[in-house]
Amino acid sequence: MTFESAASAAYIVAALLFILSLAGLSKHESARSGVVYGIAGMAIALVATVVLVVDNAEALAIVLLFVAVAVGAAIGLWRARVVEMTGMPELIALLHSFVGLAAVLVGWNGHLDPPVLFGALEDIHHAEVFIGVFIGAVTFTGSIVAYLKLSAKISSSPLVLPGKNLLNIGALVAFVVLTVWYVVDSQLWLLIAVTVVALALGWHLVASIGGGDMPVVVSMLNSYSGWAAAAAGFLLNNDLLIVTGALVGSSGAYLSFIMCKAMNRSFISVIAGGFGIEAKAGDDTDYGEHREITAEDTAELLRNATSVVITPGYGMAVAQAQYPVADLTKKLRERGIEVRFGIHPVAGRLPGHMNVLLAEAKVPYDIVLEMDEINDDLASTSVVLVIGANDTVNPAATDDPSSPIAGMPVLTVWEAENVVVFKRSMAAGYAGVQNPLFFRDNTQMLFGDAKARVEDILRAL
Ligand code: NDP
Repeated sequence: MTFESAASAAYIVAALLFILSLAGLSKHESARSGVVYGIAGMAIALVATVVLVVDNAEALAIVLLFVAVAVGAAIGLWRARVVEMTGMPELIALLHSFVGLAAVLVGWNGHLDPPVLFGALEDIHHAEVFIGVFIGAVTFTGSIVAYLKLSAKISSSPLVLPGKNLLNIGALVAFVVLTVWYVVDSQLWLLIAVTVVALALGWHLVASIGGGDMPVVVSMLNSYSGWAAAAAGFLLNNDLLIVTGALVGSSGAYLSFIMCKAMNRSFISVIAGGFGIEAKAGDDTDYGEHREITAEDTAELLRNATSVVITPGYGMAVAQAQYPVADLTKKLRERGIEVRFGIHPVAGRLPGHMNVLLAEAKVPYDIVLEMDEINDDLASTSVVLVIGANDTVNPAATDDPSSPIAGMPVLTVWEAENVVVFKRSMAAGYAGVQNPLFFRDNTQMLFGDAKARVEDILRAL
């Protein structure tokens, strides 16, 4: 058997493992085996690719290959070890940018070192180069802006350039025209032009999207990175890269679609860079006074409650409060109080963020409910503890049509008898909008670090 046919067989096995991995990742119970399938598939794919290259390449290329793999693996292992759970989305955004950059480089290589082709095959090659560079460059700068927004290095509010929709449409038209031109006459300046247009478009698309819609952007860039990888696969004649890219591309697109539906956003409007969304002028509404509560009084409130719902958010992750929260849950349940969790689809900074943290702290799955499952029960709940959540419990989303998060479904915590909000200050959440919940008559604020405050309550109990 030649190395080529062995590698093809290995690629088929790896592709099957990737499909099993995606299937496994769709459920809590099988997520762990999904990750194992993914690692196994990637290991097989890497070994097969390296063996193929070593079989065909010169000594220098082989040395370069091993150095690149060693450096990449070392950086990857180090980042994976030190990254905080709350830093995952920005790390993922950064990794997507590498996929985009790789697709651009592969595309450029396809121009500078073209294979010997004639007629229609040559035209197809040119189109592949152009499309690969375009998707790759959009993914590259889009992911960098997402990284900067998620890590709060730039503001998360949407950039509103005059005629921004026209700019996007103009860039797409330019891409189509340049592609046709390049297929007819493959000049270098055309490739430079499309690279610049795509880099600018990627930047503009993500910069135009407001904080509240960032969850969709993260999964959308995931999808783009998949298509960029698939485009590179066509150029490199690598079937596995095409299959893997298509799997990532379509699953990312599907995830974006589900998240848009969950957040009542138009899929097209979000992927088109906040198409139709206008920025809002500063907020000078007078919301009145808020009331404060102490940990001891919160403990008293809980002692007298019959049912408690906890709605966690990003602040619980920052404070690493999931462990004392799990202890509190256990203690209250031992006293016969019903305790459940209400999880908003975009609570935290990545899909499933809260579920992972609660599972880590060994909170039983069956008391962790989705927003739609718990919302109807909130009106008959004695106490809701809002632990480090803000945008996901903001009544403005349902009451104020001019709010940047208008229309986004939220946990209707204000319907409960009592609401206690755990946060450190009166600061706004990720979307940067004020939360009228804090000023409602049945709401009390428990200020301070969420972990310390939950521990105070545990002591008082
Ligand atoms: P928010 O970002 O709206 O609010 C988090 C709150 O936690 C803040 O009000 C903050 O207030 C508080 N907080 C921060 N640190 C602590 C701490 N140590 N102790 C106590 N409180 C703390 O979070 P939500 O989870 O409610 O909403 C998620 C937001 O993130 C949404 O806007 C969503 O669109 C966006 N997003 C979600 C993604 C996803 O995939 N899930 C991805 C990207 C963005 P204070 O500073 O006063 O303490």
